[in-house]
Amino acid sequence: MPHDHSDHEHAHALLPSDPALRVKALETILTRKGLVDPAALDEIIDTYESRVGPKNGADVVARAWSDEGFRAALAVDATEVMRELGYYGRQGEHIVCTECTPSVHHMVVCTLCSCYPWSLLGIPPGWYKSDAYRSRAVREPRKVLAEFGVALPPETAVRVWDSTAEIRYLVIPLRPAGTEGMSVEELAKLVTRDSMIGTGLARVPG
Ligand code: FE
Repeated sequence: MPHDHSDHEHAHALLPSDPALRVKALETILTRKGLVDPAALDEIIDTYESRVGPKNGADVVARAWSDEGFRAALAVDATEVMRELGYYGRQGEHIVCTECTPSVHHMVVCTLCSCYPWSLLGIPPGWYKSDAYRSRAVREPRKVLAEFGVALPPETAVRVWDSTAEIRYLVIPLRPAGTEGMSVEELAKLVTRDSMIGTGLARVPG
């Protein structure tokens, strides 16, 4: 019916055409009202984008690979370990580490929005926030992994963790073969961001 149709169109017209524009508008209002300092916002974004990045997480993984005691401490209370390392912070308040083994591969998603351990991995990649990843990671994790170029042996089970504002997960990928005797610094270079989300594997040296 024409009347229903025009109501329908109207409802759609109220939706913002572009989330980025909406964010910009909010930022402008908050700045004008003196509620946020744009320099502080830039500082936060720069910290997580260029200074933190995934290097803190890679350091944690490399230490876990190298030190049995560290690994045990992570299993008991990873958040406390992050605090001691100085990797505790905004969007990284409750960390749980899930360690991949030959029998279980771990993968992280936030089905509700985009919760992510910023203090360990920096700003989440665009795909992590996409509707497609958020719904498909749970429904067809193996297919999603294949699209990321990860082929697991059939005997390896896939466990998907749903991140929330309460708990943020860091995947400890399998330590690659041929890395015996490598230092923590050398090992950390093999740890990719995606391997700590579970959509990738650690690099093989060379
Ligand atoms: Fe979320």
